[in-house]
Amino acid sequence: MQTRKFGGGGPQVALIGQGTWYLDRADRKAAVAALKRGIDAGMTHIDTAQMYGDAELVIADAIAGQRDKLFLVSKVLPSNASRRGTIAACERSLKRLKTDRLDCYLLHWRGSYPLADTVAAFDELIAAGKIRSWGVSNFDADDLDELLDVAGEGAIACNQVLYHLKERAIEHAVIPWCEVHGVAVVAYSPFGHDDFPSPSSKGGALLQSIAEAHKATPRQVALSFLTRGPAVFAIPKASRADHADENAAAGDLKLSDGDIAALDKAFPRGPKPRGLPML
Ligand code: NAP
Repeated sequence: MQTRKFGGGGPQVALIGQGTWYLDRADRKAAVAALKRGIDAGMTHIDTAQMYGDAELVIADAIAGQRDKLFLVSKVLPSNASRRGTIAACERSLKRLKTDRLDCYLLHWRGSYPLADTVAAFDELIAAGKIRSWGVSNFDADDLDELLDVAGEGAIACNQVLYHLKERAIEHAVIPWCEVHGVAVVAYSPFGHDDFPSPSSKGGALLQSIAEAHKATPRQVALSFLTRGPAVFAIPKASRADHADENAAAGDLKLSDGDIAALDKAFPRGPKPRGLPML
């Protein structure tokens, strides 16, 4: 599993991590086994959120006894993101995850509380040792500009955003912004949530032929394409251990310039949309 620095001043983090949205809807034993298999295969970045029902409880079962090797991330809902509410939400997540700290804590999307209040809460959580760093999710470049004014250079660890082969909007402004300011980009729904290119489509056939040339799979090719830039990580969700194994192996796949050019053509970036797409 390749690793890279998480933002400007962060630790080395696995390129491919594990999402957990809807993991609580899967068979509990299978979900815990999938997470554990993923961790064993190097997907030590685990992403969750207050919003994901009981996913934090599933994770607690999977990470027991191996907390120190993980990069554990959770998120506060915007409706809780006041100064006091953020701290209370973090404490609830820590309890549910059965841990004493998060490696990164995110504002799930921008809501109505002033960014300064949420940032003040994040700073307080860092001072108390309850989080190691903080970031945001679903922030467009203009939101990031405002956040930078509040927090200052070097404070924002990451921006977690929608990014998959059929949705490349963040390449226009968000990725360039994050590269300039040392902010990690975390690609969520890297398989399009449930919209992965079908093998019978033109793009799907290309994925298959590139995969065959590398003795890999189409999904591994997709993950490798998405994480080709220096700031990008991906967090596919898998509730099956064999899926976790497959996804983790993408962290060692290197595509050629020709592969990347062909994928770029088959899944065009498209024009810059007015707003940032999100799920
Ligand atoms: P995704 O990772 O794009 O796709 C998940 C789907 O792909 C599941 O149906 C899963 O099936 C399947 N899958 C995974 N690996 C596979 C494999 N190797 N072969 C075949 N199928 C495979 O979707 P996502 O869950 O929306 O996104 C990933 C994570 O990003 C989330 O879980 C969450 O942590 C995060 N996220 C964040 C936000 C945000 O606003 N910040 C929004 C959406 C998502 P199985 O479950 O059966 O393995």
